[in-house]
Amino acid sequence: MAQPFCTECQRPMEGGFLLDNNNATQEAVSWVEGPPEKSFWGSMKIKGRRKLTVYAWRCPGCSQVRLFAPQV
Ligand SMILES: [Zn+2]
Repeated sequence: MAQPFCTECQRPMEGGFLLDNNNATQEAVSWVEGPPEKSFWGSMKIKGRRKLTVYAWRCPGCSQVRLFAPQV
């Protein structure tokens, strides 16, 4: 995706992502379509939903983080 600029400072933002550190395996955080609902087993219901990797861009000036989940 094209590099975004900070809405406050108009500075180019630094690319990155949000790390899900809660699991045994480390993964990038995903955007999932629809409301968060848990199944009987305690896991999130995500079957059949759209799932996109979240990209986090950080402003070196004001430290604001903007999140994007571009279509692949
Ligand atoms: Zn900024």
